[in-house]
Amino acid sequence: MEKILNYINGVLTEPFSGAYLENVNPAEGRVYSLIPDSGNKDVNHAVEAARRAFTKWSATPAEQRSAIMIRIADLIERDLDKLALAESIDQGKPLKLAKTVDIPRASANFRFYATAILHTASDAHFTDQQAINYTQYQPIGVAGCISPWNLPLYLFTWKIAPALAAGCTVVAKPSEVTPMTAYLLSQLCIEAGLPEGVLNIVHGLGAKAGQAIIEHPEVAAISFTGGTATGKKIAATAAPMFKKLSLELGGKNPNIIFADCDFENAVSTSIHSSFSNQGEICLCGSRIFVERPLYERFLTEFTARTRALVVGDPLDEKTKVGAIVSEAHMNKILSYIELAKKEGGTIVLGGKQITGTGRCANGYFVEPTIITGLEHLCRTNQEEIFGPVVTIMPFDTEEEVLEYANSTTYGLAATIWTENLKRAHRVAAQVKSGIIWVNCWLFRDLRTPFGGMKQSGVGREGGFEALKFFTEEKNVCIKL
Ligand code: NDP
Repeated sequence: MEKILNYINGVLTEPFSGAYLENVNPAEGRVYSLIPDSGNKDVNHAVEAARRAFTKWSATPAEQRSAIMIRIADLIERDLDKLALAESIDQGKPLKLAKTVDIPRASANFRFYATAILHTASDAHFTDQQAINYTQYQPIGVAGCISPWNLPLYLFTWKIAPALAAGCTVVAKPSEVTPMTAYLLSQLCIEAGLPEGVLNIVHGLGAKAGQAIIEHPEVAAISFTGGTATGKKIAATAAPMFKKLSLELGGKNPNIIFADCDFENAVSTSIHSSFSNQGEICLCGSRIFVERPLYERFLTEFTARTRALVVGDPLDEKTKVGAIVSEAHMNKILSYIELAKKEGGTIVLGGKQITGTGRCANGYFVEPTIITGLEHLCRTNQEEIFGPVVTIMPFDTEEEVLEYANSTTYGLAATIWTENLKRAHRVAAQVKSGIIWVNCWLFRDLRTPFGGMKQSGVGREGGFEALKFFTEEKNVCIKL
C-alpha cells in the first residue's frame, strides 16, 4: 500500500515513530494509503530545518524566489490530471470539480504570490521637513500553516505561497483526512529546486502534529483554516506566546433572495452555492431566505433542480455531488438532519444516506437535502453542518431578513440576489459577513482581502494583506 512521507529539509522522510495512520478513500469506504503519524520529534526536526533555511531564503532576491514559485505553479499545471485524480480520491469530490477549480486554483495561488512579491511597495512619510519615516516589512521567520480537508491543495497553497513569497520558511500540515495532494506537492517542490528546509510538510493528527507546530516557540506566525472550535484552541495556545495569528474558521452563510432578482441566475447559482463539493465549502450558503412573493416558486424550482443532481461516483463525469469526506463526517451530517426533524423541520427533499453502486457500494454518500419550516434561531439554523443540507425560509421585509442573516455567531460570507442597486448596497452594508457576493457566488479576485467577522475568524488572507501577515513591520525615523 502506498506510504505518504513527510517532507523535511528537502527530503521525503519516514516519521520518527515509524507509525502510520490509515488514509481512506471515502467513495469506496476503503483504506488506500498510509500517512505518517508524526509527533513532536518530527515537528522539531521540521522547525529546525526551516529555521536554518530562513537566513538564506529571506535574503534571496524576490526575483529568484518568484522564479522558483512560478516553476512550482507550472508543475502543478503540468500534473493537473494526476493531482485532480488524487484530490478526488482523497476527498470524495467530483473529479471534474478538482480539475476545473481546486487544482487550477492551487497553481494560481503560487503564480499570484510569485508575481505579487515583485510589485510590493512600502510607505515613506516626510514629517514637516524635520524627519523621514519609512516602513520596512521583513519576513517574520518560520511560519506554521495548517489547513482543512475540504479544499485540500487549494487552501494549503493559499497559505504556503504568500509565506514563501514574503521570505518566510514554512512548516505546514495538511488535514490528516486528505494528505495526498500535499504529498504530491512536496515532490513537485523537490523537482522545482526549492532549497532544502524552505518548505517542510509534516503529516499527522491535528491534536498531535498540529498542536506541536502551534506550540513550538520558534514558529512566529500561524495561519490556520479549519473549524471554530479548533481555532479557539489554537488562539488559546498561541496568544500567550504573542504569535501572529490568522484564523479562517467556520461559517453559516445566508443566501438572501429578493423577489426582484434575476430568477434563473439566482436559482442556478444557489444550486452551486448549496451543494458544490457536497456542501463542504466554508462559503456555501446553507441558509436560504426568500422574499415571500417568490418563496413558493423558488422552492418548487430549487427542489426540482436539486432532485436532478447526480450523486455518486466522484470519478464519473456526470456526477455533481460526490462522497462525504469521511464516515464520521457523514454521521455528523445525518445527525443534524435528525435534529432538524426534532426541531419541527420538514424534509422537502433528501435526508438520507445513499448506498453507492459498484466500487462505491461502501462509500459515504448523503442525498442533497432541503429543509423548510424551521425558526431562524434553532440549532439547525445556527450551527455549521458542512454538508449537502440547506434550510429555506420566507421573509417579508429587509429588517426581518437582516435579523435572520445576522443571528448566528458566524460571519464569513453572504449572497444577496436583487436587481435593485440601492437595496444591494444597503443590505450589503448591514450584513455582518467578511465577504458578500451580490448576484454571484464564489467569484474571487485574489487581490481582495478574504476572511470572516465574528467567530468566523480574525485576520485576512488574500492579496498583499497575506504577504504583510508573514512580515514584521518596522518604522525607521531619520531626523533631517
Ligand atoms: P478542523 O478544525 O478539524 O481541522 C483543521 C486543521 O487543523 C486540520 O489540519 C486538523 O488536523 C488541524 N488541527 C486539529 N486540531 C488541532 C490542534 N489542536 N492544533 C493544531 N491543528 C489542529 O477543521 P476541518 O478539517 O474539519 O475543516 C472543516 C472546517 O474548516 C469547517 O468548519 C469549515 O468551515 C472550515 N473552513 C473555513 C474556511 C475559511 O476560509 N474560513 C475555508 C474552509 C474550511 P486533522 O485533520 O489531522 O485533525
